[in-house]
Amino acid sequence: MKKLCDMKKLCATIVLILVFPLAIHAAEYRPQVAAHRGASAYLPEHTLEAKAMAYAMGVDFMEQDVVFTKDDVLVVLHDHTLETTTDVEKKFPGRQRPDGSFYAIDFTLNEIKSLLVTERFDPKTKKAVFGNRFPVNFDIDFRVPTLEEEILLVQGLNKSTGRNVGLYVEVKEPAFHEKEGKAIMEATIEMLGKYGYNKEGANAILQIFDYDAVKKSRELGWKADLAMLVDMDGQMLRDDKSIHKWLLTEEGVKEVSKYASVFAPWFSHLAEPASDGKSYTIAPCAQWARDAGMKLHTWTYRADSLPKGFISENEVFEAAFNKIKVDGIFSDFPDHVIQYLEKNGLR
Ligand code: CA
Repeated sequence: MKKLCDMKKLCATIVLILVFPLAIHAAEYRPQVAAHRGASAYLPEHTLEAKAMAYAMGVDFMEQDVVFTKDDVLVVLHDHTLETTTDVEKKFPGRQRPDGSFYAIDFTLNEIKSLLVTERFDPKTKKAVFGNRFPVNFDIDFRVPTLEEEILLVQGLNKSTGRNVGLYVEVKEPAFHEKEGKAIMEATIEMLGKYGYNKEGANAILQIFDYDAVKKSRELGWKADLAMLVDMDGQMLRDDKSIHKWLLTEEGVKEVSKYASVFAPWFSHLAEPASDGKSYTIAPCAQWARDAGMKLHTWTYRADSLPKGFISENEVFEAAFNKIKVDGIFSDFPDHVIQYLEKNGLR
């Protein structure tokens, strides 16, 4: 009898040892999914329709890229120019700058609202950037939303579903906006504050490619999470490649952790492809970021454009969630990421 009892105890202990740590681990590690420009693999990016679809997929964060209009309204648009996703060339011929681009900052909100939005295309060839996504056409009434409209959409859905999806707001090209006399950092922080997001622990992350602007956002009183986006190419309108190179060094990571709570490099800076393109190695900056107390996020998972060094979606997710263990990922295909996480007990 005693033997049986001991056996039972032993079995119970083994079960506890085997199951409990896994259960704790699963509860601790729950990577978050951000809808990159909405469910942009399925509907034109940054439309409210793409955001509603992403919301229904069960994302944790909705991404907004913000730029200013001529009359100082924050609109949700990835590029600081309009010709890659709207019919601006047809509606406002001659309004481009000498470099040939139609800058959002040169148009009023009313003018931008008069534009129809479509799937991202190459303005020269008029062909879609991603051939298997939503068609490029201007026959559907998709529009550019304001940041405020998008906040109201997410907050409205949070109310009607009882969920709590967060905002992940990127201020685009702060130095360019400042040069044009537009205080975009101040305006974004003020708008987020108006809707209750500027406080510690709020469900919003401010994300910026500009290191100086990351520092400045704390000076301006941003209290919630702050992500430093890192890409060796730096920003489009600012020559800061050397700063981004430095941000991937141990010193750079430590320095930025004084301001940022999230370190968010391009995926290929975390899983560096080998020169033959057939394998990858994990970069040390992942560990440095953790050691410095930051969360690790990365971008952008696209099933129709896999990162270099990878041949399958599963391989990318294994690297991201089993090896590097990122805390968050941006994806045009949030449903693919969520399905993987669910299947593997990480959600
Ligand atoms: Ca972005």
